[in-house]
Amino acid sequence: MMVIKRRKTRQVRIGAVKIGGNAPVSIQSMAKTDTADVDATVRQIKALEREGCEIIRVAVKDMFSARALSKIKAGINIPLVADIHFHFQLALEAIARGVDGLRLNPGNIYRYRELKQVVKAARKRKIPIRVGVNSGSVREPESRRAGESKSQADWMIKSALDYIRILEGLDFYNIIVSLKSSDVMVTVDSYRKMAGLCNYPFHLGVTAAGLPEQARIKSAIGIGGLLLRGIGDTVRVSLTGNPREEVKTARQILQSLGARYFEPEIIACPTCGRTQVDVVKIAQEVKKRLNNRQCSLNGKKPLRVAIMGCMVNGPGEARDADIGLAAGKKSGAVFIKGKRIRRVREEEMVDELLKEINRIVI
Ligand code: SF4
Repeated sequence: MMVIKRRKTRQVRIGAVKIGGNAPVSIQSMAKTDTADVDATVRQIKALEREGCEIIRVAVKDMFSARALSKIKAGINIPLVADIHFHFQLALEAIARGVDGLRLNPGNIYRYRELKQVVKAARKRKIPIRVGVNSGSVREPESRRAGESKSQADWMIKSALDYIRILEGLDFYNIIVSLKSSDVMVTVDSYRKMAGLCNYPFHLGVTAAGLPEQARIKSAIGIGGLLLRGIGDTVRVSLTGNPREEVKTARQILQSLGARYFEPEIIACPTCGRTQVDVVKIAQEVKKRLNNRQCSLNGKKPLRVAIMGCMVNGPGEARDADIGLAAGKKSGAVFIKGKRIRRVREEEMVDELLKEINRIVI
C-alpha cells in the first residue's frame, strides 16, 4: 500500500492526546446535548468513547453550560474541548473549569483586550486554542467591504492568519487550525493553501455536511482527499444525526487510507448473475461475528477477509487477502495467506472462515 507522507507540523496536546507531529490522526466528535444537562451530556460522551471517539467538544453557549464543564470532565475519560462563540468570559470560565482545549471563532471573538485575557489563562493552564474558522461565520473584513475580491478560501485563510498573528504576538503558539466550509472544494482548497503558510496542526472537517447519507460522502471526499495529500492531524465528521455515526465514519475514512485500523477489512464482491452462493449473507454474518474485533496478523494492519462469489475474480482476491473464500456452485475454496487449503460447502462457509480467522490472528 502507498505510504502517505504527512505534512510536518508542530505537536500540540489536547489532554493526553497528541495532535500533529508524528501522532496518529485522532478522531473527534461534538456532543449534541444541552451542555448544562450534565447527565445527558456525560451519557452521550460515554457512548461516543465506546465508539472510538478520542476528543470531545461541547458547545458553551452560556454560563450555565460553562459551569457544567468541571462536572462533565469528571464523568468522562477523553479530553474535553469547549466551543466558544461571542463571549470571551465563557472561555475564561471554561478554562477555570478545567477544559483541555478551546475552540475560538475568529469571526466572533476578536477584540484584542478580550483575546489577551483568554490567551493568558490558556497559557497558564497549558491548553491549546483551535483557531476555528467556519465559512458560515467569517467576519467581513474592511477590505472586502471596500470591494476587494478574493475567493471564499482566501477570506477564510486571511481570517485564520490574522488571528494567528494576534496569538503569536501574545507569545502563544499552542495552536490548532481549522478552515471548514460546507462546500467540499472550498474546504480542500483552504486547507491546501494554508498548509504552505504555517506549521500548526490541522483539525479537518467539512462543516454542516448534512444528513448522514450525504455527509458521509462529502466528508470522505473532503477529509479523505486532504489526508491523501498528507494534510490533517485530527478529524471531525459533521453530520445531522447521531454523533456515533460521526465517529464510525471518521474511523472508516482513516482505515480506508491505511492511516489507522479499527476493524477487519471485508473485501466482498458486489455479486452478479454468476453468483451461486449467498455472498451478501455470508459477508454480513462474518462481519457480525467478528464484531469489530481489531483483528490483525501483525498488529499493524487490519485482517483482510475476502468473500467472493465466483471463479472470475474470486481466487485472485482470495489469494491476496489474509483469508479468502472463492465460491462456486453451492461450495467454495478457502485460501489462507495465498494458499488454497480446502473446499467447503455453502452452509459451512461462515463457521470455517471464523475458525481459521481465530486460528491465525493475534
Ligand atoms: Fe460476479 Fe464473480 Fe465478480 Fe462476484 S466475483 S461480482 S460473482 S463476476
